[in-house]
Amino acid sequence: MAKPAAFMDRDGVINIDYGHVGDASKLEYVHGALESIAYLNRLGFLVFVVTNQAGIAKGRYTLSDYETVMAKIFSDLKFHSGRIDDVRFCPYHENAVFEKYRRKNHPWRKPNAGMILDLIACWDIDLSRSFLVGDRDTDILAAGLAGLNGYLFKGDIDLKSFIKTIPEVVAFK
Ligand SMILES: [Mg+2]
Repeated sequence: MAKPAAFMDRDGVINIDYGHVGDASKLEYVHGALESIAYLNRLGFLVFVVTNQAGIAKGRYTLSDYETVMAKIFSDLKFHSGRIDDVRFCPYHENAVFEKYRRKNHPWRKPNAGMILDLIACWDIDLSRSFLVGDRDTDILAAGLAGLNGYLFKGDIDLKSFIKTIPEVVAFK
């Protein structure tokens, strides 16, 4: 049966975005982020992360560093009984120092909707009850292109309080 899904940007939503977050030892969570994911899981939402990672293209950190950060998020989430169901990341950027990552306007790079559309193609999702949370206009644009409501998280309250105001979540309570 199709499930509703919460699409989440990573940097600035789950973890503090201090710019090019590639070092797991410096990972710092947005207040309430891990609890929010567990809360969405309990409500029956699939939770997906969709994250631009141009730092890989720019040589600020490696693909392996990125994977280490994600592994830390997964393991920290377990302590909160939370689960991220799937992840899409985009390592491409037009100013990449590595040729293999040099792509102008890659369809997966937000504000393009490629990462979201790929998840929609891979999972049985009830789109009418799904949404995206991001901290930048580009996140919200990508959501709109995929036909989803996008909500801009400005970091002025904890993430769980913010999530609880989202109409698609309110409808579930
Ligand atoms: Mg962000």
